[in-house]
Amino acid sequence: MPAGRAGDGPHVIAVTMLGSGSRGNAILVDGSDGTVLVDAGFGVRTLAKRFEAVQRRPGDVGAVLLTHEHVDHACGAAAACDRWSWRVHASAPTLAALSLVASGAPSDVQPFAPSGDQVLCGFTIEHAPLPHDASDCRALVLTDRASGARLGIVLDAGHVPETLPAFLDRLDLLVVESNHDPDLLANGPYPQPLKERIGGGRGHLSNRQAATLAAACAHRGLRHVVLAHLSETNNTPALALASAHAALRGAGWKRDGVSTAPQRVPLTPVRADGGVGRLVATQLALGL
Ligand SMILES: [Zn+2]
Ligand SMILES: [Zn+2]
Repeated sequence: MPAGRAGDGPHVIAVTMLGSGSRGNAILVDGSDGTVLVDAGFGVRTLAKRFEAVQRRPGDVGAVLLTHEHVDHACGAAAACDRWSWRVHASAPTLAALSLVASGAPSDVQPFAPSGDQVLCGFTIEHAPLPHDASDCRALVLTDRASGARLGIVLDAGHVPETLPAFLDRLDLLVVESNHDPDLLANGPYPQPLKERIGGGRGHLSNRQAATLAAACAHRGLRHVVLAHLSETNNTPALALASAHAALRGAGWKRDGVSTAPQRVPLTPVRADGGVGRLVATQLALGL
C-alpha cells in the first residue's frame, strides 16, 4: 500500500499536503474508492517530484478539483492535467478565468455540479463561496461515501463568512489557511498596498481567523487540523500552531492533532482515524 493511502479502519480518508503556500498548493486526498487532487499549483516537474516524494504516482489521481484560478493553485492545471489526462473540476467562473491566465485552460474540464450533487472517485463534493479576490473561490467538503468520513478544505479567504462553520459541520479532518500573523504583516517588508490586500476582507486568513474557524469546527469527531498556506515572510509555524492550539483548547477539543503544511516539502499523510502515515523517506528540501 502506498504511503498514506487510506485502506482500513472505520473512517477512511487521508490527506497528503504535497506543498502549501503562496508559491504553490496541491493536496492529495485518498478515500475508500479513489483519490483526488485538490489544486494543481505547481508545474509538472515539481508535481512529479512531490508525487515521488510521497511514493505515489500521478496515475493514482482520478480527478482534479480547483479552489480558484490563482497561479499558486492552478498554474499546473493545463500542462499537468493534459500530461496525465486529469479531468479538472471547478466552478464555472473559475474555469472561465483559467482561459485568461498565462498557464491557460486544461482541455478536459467540467464545472462543479450544485453542491452535494456531484460524486467523484467515491467522494460527495460540496462547495461554498469564499471571500477572496478571485473570480469564485470555493471552500470544499469531501465526504467519503463508503465510510462517511468528511474532509473540509478552506484555502484563500479574506474573512470567514457567517455560514461557513455550518457548511463545515461534522468534519473528521480540516485543512484551513492560516496565512499571517497581523503584527508580522504590519511590520514586515511588503509594500503597503500588498499588506492591505493580504489583510483585507478579500485577502487571506490570519492565524487568529484560522484558529477561530478551527475552534468553531471542533467536536469529538474532529481528528486533525492542518494549517495551510502559511506565509514564509509574515508568519511562523510556531505562531500559527500556538494560536490554533489555544483556540481549540478553549473550545474544549481534547486532541492535539494540529500540523502546519510546509511549502517546500510534502507533509506526512494525515488520516481521518487520527493516525499519521509513516514518514516519507524523501521528506527533504526538494526546492521549487
Ligand atoms: Zn493562494
Ligand atoms: Zn488566491
